[in-house]
Amino acid sequence: MPVRTRVAVIGAGPAGLLLSHLLGRHGIESVVVDSRSREEIETTIRAGILEQGTVEILSETGASDRVLTAGRKHEGMELRFDGEGHRIDFAATVGRAVWLYPQHEVLKDLVAARLAAGQDLRFGVTAERVEDAETNRPRVVARDAEGGAVEIEADVVVGADGSRSVAREAVTGTYGGYFREYPFAWFGILCEAPPSAEELIYSNSPDGFALISQRGPGVQRMYFQCDPTTDPGAYGEERLWEILRSRVPGITLNEGRVFQRDVLRFRSFVAHEMRRGRVVLVGDAAHTVPPTGAKGMNLAVADVVVLTEALRALLLDGDESLFDAFPDTARKLIWKAQHFSWWMTSMLHLQPGAGDFDRMRQIGELRSVVESEAGRAYLAEGYTGRPLG
Ligand SMILES: Cc1cc2nc3c(=O)[nH]c(=O)nc-3n(C[C@H](O)[C@H](O)[C@H](O)COP(=O)(O)OP(=O)(O)OC[C@H]3O[C@@H](n4cnc5c(N)ncnc54)[C@H](O)[C@@H]3O)c2cc1C
Repeated sequence: MPVRTRVAVIGAGPAGLLLSHLLGRHGIESVVVDSRSREEIETTIRAGILEQGTVEILSETGASDRVLTAGRKHEGMELRFDGEGHRIDFAATVGRAVWLYPQHEVLKDLVAARLAAGQDLRFGVTAERVEDAETNRPRVVARDAEGGAVEIEADVVVGADGSRSVAREAVTGTYGGYFREYPFAWFGILCEAPPSAEELIYSNSPDGFALISQRGPGVQRMYFQCDPTTDPGAYGEERLWEILRSRVPGITLNEGRVFQRDVLRFRSFVAHEMRRGRVVLVGDAAHTVPPTGAKGMNLAVADVVVLTEALRALLLDGDESLFDAFPDTARKLIWKAQHFSWWMTSMLHLQPGAGDFDRMRQIGELRSVVESEAGRAYLAEGYTGRPLG
């Protein structure tokens, strides 16, 4: 017998869990499935920068109190180039801020809030496909951890299943999306050391980009630009620190044991379609951004805020207009975030094969940003994000 619900959500990432939370506040029932275990979801380290709008949604809707107490508010960042640092003061330019609060902590808060509210949240259940998209009863066909069949029939199915989405096929068919792959990647490390700086440092150096970031009082997250084919095990610890030091001249890094390393490829993607019939895509299932602008998780939250309003009107008032308009409304935010992520990426990274002219032009661009009030405000506005909802 299929499980019946109003909204079937594939994926208990930030998009899927927040959607079930916001729908629950309107009294709209949902079932959420995720192929991973609760433990895996709550311990995988990914994003860390939350826009002000994301923090407001999490705190004001009761999804997370901890974001304001355990999260660290950052009212600025540093851009480094040509051996000098330049502070972009978010508070002074746009009166907004970002919060450093790891994605897995957001997920812990959301899982706890959903379970406390009695949410039907099924871990270890893998969706195989979505059927009957063009009817009023679309279905998720899935398997549980023991291989048993699970079927969920709903008024609406939401694919919040990340960049390798299985729901996407039911929406876009073989007609994929807009895509760009970049000729570089980030080598990321987590290490046991106190923060090297109060705020994040984005550094453009002649050897390539580096980002000095934090994950807490005793853990730092640092990245440096590398070739996308780099093996994460390629460098010994001393070599890693040598590379990082060379990318942030003038900064003394606090060094410590490296306990995680990964290579993060850079891709931009926007699905051509975000909805077919009663099946919708949100978050990374619908789009991917390179990580430089810290937009991925924030954009997933923005999609969900727009979709919640559309589902409320559809399922409670029988008004289809916002649901029909959802892809166009979401796409406007998505392309702005795509542009910002591409802009930050191209301004800060060394393009393979770049000559003297390209390098000097890039420095000119960075100076145009940091030495002009309008330039600083443009960066600050894009980075801290606009109010949601
Ligand atoms: C290393 C790294 C650093 C990042 N840093 C930042 C940052 O600083 N700021 C930022 O905003 N973004 C950042 N991002 C991006 C951000 O993590 C993603 O954009 C965000 O997780 C998207 O949320 P989502 O809910 O759409 O998808 P996901 O978080 O990918 O969640 C999808 C969920 O669906 C589940 N799933 C997948 N397939 C199935 C299936 N068939 N059946 C059932 N369940 C399924 C998965 O297990 C997963 O739990 C970073 C990403 C990485 C990898």
